[in-house]
Amino acid sequence: MAKKLDDYGIKNLKDLLFHLPSRYEDRTRIIPIAQCQLNQRAVIEASVETCQSVFRGKRSMLVTLSDGSGILTLRFFHFSKQQQAQFSQGATVRCFGEVRRGKKGWEMIHPEYRVLKDFAQESVEEHLTAIYPTTEGIGQGRWRLWIKQALTQIRNLQFPELLPSELLENNKLPDLVSCLEILHQPPPNTSVDDLNSGKHPAILRLSLEELLAHQISLRQVRLEQKRDKAPKLITKKSLREQFIKQLSFDLTSAQERVLKEINNDLANPHPMLRLLQGDVGSGKTVVAAISALAALSKGFQIAIMAPTEILAEQHFKNFTAWFEDFDINIGWLSGSLGAKAKRESLAALASGETNILVGTHALFQEGVEYKKLGLCIIDEQHRFGVHQRLALREKGNFEKYGIPHQLIMTATPIPRTLAMSAYADLDVSVIDELPPGRKPVTTAVISEERRHKVLERVNSIVREGRQVYWVCPLVEESEHLQCQAAEITAQTLSEVFPNLKIALVHGRLKNAQKELVMQAFKAGDVNLLVATTVIEVGVDVPNANLMVIENAERLGLSQLHQLRGRIGRGADSGYCVLLYKAPLSDTAKLRLQTMRETTDGFKISEKDLQIRGPGELLGTRQTGLMQMRIADILRDAHLIPGLQDYADDILSTKPKHAQALVRRWLGDRLRYGMV
Ligand code: ADP
Ligand code: MG
Repeated sequence: MAKKLDDYGIKNLKDLLFHLPSRYEDRTRIIPIAQCQLNQRAVIEASVETCQSVFRGKRSMLVTLSDGSGILTLRFFHFSKQQQAQFSQGATVRCFGEVRRGKKGWEMIHPEYRVLKDFAQESVEEHLTAIYPTTEGIGQGRWRLWIKQALTQIRNLQFPELLPSELLENNKLPDLVSCLEILHQPPPNTSVDDLNSGKHPAILRLSLEELLAHQISLRQVRLEQKRDKAPKLITKKSLREQFIKQLSFDLTSAQERVLKEINNDLANPHPMLRLLQGDVGSGKTVVAAISALAALSKGFQIAIMAPTEILAEQHFKNFTAWFEDFDINIGWLSGSLGAKAKRESLAALASGETNILVGTHALFQEGVEYKKLGLCIIDEQHRFGVHQRLALREKGNFEKYGIPHQLIMTATPIPRTLAMSAYADLDVSVIDELPPGRKPVTTAVISEERRHKVLERVNSIVREGRQVYWVCPLVEESEHLQCQAAEITAQTLSEVFPNLKIALVHGRLKNAQKELVMQAFKAGDVNLLVATTVIEVGVDVPNANLMVIENAERLGLSQLHQLRGRIGRGADSGYCVLLYKAPLSDTAKLRLQTMRETTDGFKISEKDLQIRGPGELLGTRQTGLMQMRIADILRDAHLIPGLQDYADDILSTKPKHAQALVRRWLGDRLRYGMV
């Protein structure tokens, strides 16, 4: 048991009292059947009228109860002869379960029940029943018993008040000990709804405290990292002017603004840790390139890491073009590089000949030695784990130059409140403006059955001289099958459109082949490109303005948004067709509807958060954040912004309180950013 409790971080009575219930049931009152409400979990006491075993497809036992106010049926699908005998006519039964609507009035399916001895006045529960998060081998009864014992000692244990008094007074919050007492053993008049929905002031108080503790711990990580040494990187004015002059466009004011924020950080002798958020197509790549100028000015190397080869190649090409007239060497490193090319690439990096290294995960693997790494740029952060990010940071020559600066770019906008809690160890810059001239993409959601309509559309778009993406996303869990599906689709479309030039790109093609296909599409030699989701990120073909996505109901919102971001990049408006197979699940319906209604990445991410919850949205990162004891990121998101200032204030004025809060709520769990 001690070992099991240790997994929960429970080592003493105080820890035990912080093991908080996840929900509540009201077993303090016997509810007359006539007053039952749909889906209510209620205690009923009534006598058996009939008990019969019926067979309709499968055997079940129906027990009809009456308490004078109404009739309620118990339904059992599994039952024994003894059970059947227990429900003899006239026996008094007390049962607890969820009230549902049956064919003949109220019903409970497999309730907990007890047959009461004649006229026995058995008492009901004194408190609302707390249901604890638990693990195999510790039953609810055991938690309740232990906690009941711990509660008898609660007044002898020291629970110092750690919340700022201002926060307590402004929100009229109860003191900590009362909150714990109420939450473990809520008095019978407490509203179960308030407790279960988190509206109860005791829950509010503890949630605030827990969120504050999390904020403090994240801010602490950030402060620690900020104490590290890093090279001061300042861009030479002439270099910047030369770079800007050759661009075919003016920077947007949002790009200028985030560049100021980035350059301010880089000029500091402490490592930058900045998240650059910007919707698909907002122009993050050029911001990355201009940020790199600061490192180049001081003779430092830059590493640019992207999650897929296609995207990394696109960066490589962009950077090569942008730096063509500069005395700069751009290196390439990816998993698929041949042994010889790899050796050469590594040698050039170690000697310092390479100024900018572009590539995939390969960039931070063992054996990759940088001469003088000053800046890491990581694209599409959500695809990389924290470990990978930290591994890259370790690639610096710490003794000599300090820790490299980090710029993390993501096109998956994270709702502000969530970003504040999940990325409190990062500073955030947002490009909240698209380059001028972008046309909105119109999205249609169309059933498979009306595929012919879509084909007509394809035809007319191609006749206008425009190009089409036809995306076949993952249907089966295997890449092989996915590619096969794409091959079959390409084949079918070729039969439908014998006059069109149709090409196919998927993950199993060799890089050189992929490259050829993409080039042909970019050059306009291909009318319709059938692709798997390999084109999800980064690919830029302005003349393509129709995208058809098959099986769209199976894709997540952020993936759909990324895919759709490939079109509408030219001068004309784009069209996106989401093909789906009926029937749609409720969440699929919601996703498709969201895609039809908005192209705003932030709105989409808010919806995504509501639909999927924060754990999935953030991926592997910060999973600890989601294992909160009482706070709920979705429910309590609005509390977080107000807490950040308190967190900073406590850290600087009451460091002991800060420590105690973190210990109370996070225990010895590894702190964020350090895992
Ligand atoms: P993302 O933020 O999705 O990575 P990119 O950096 O790929 O976007 O930029 C998308 C396209 O917009 C590219 O073709 C890029 O050259 C172009 N672009 C970037 N900034 C501007 C700007 N200020 N004005 C016009 N086009 C721009
Ligand atoms: Mg990009």
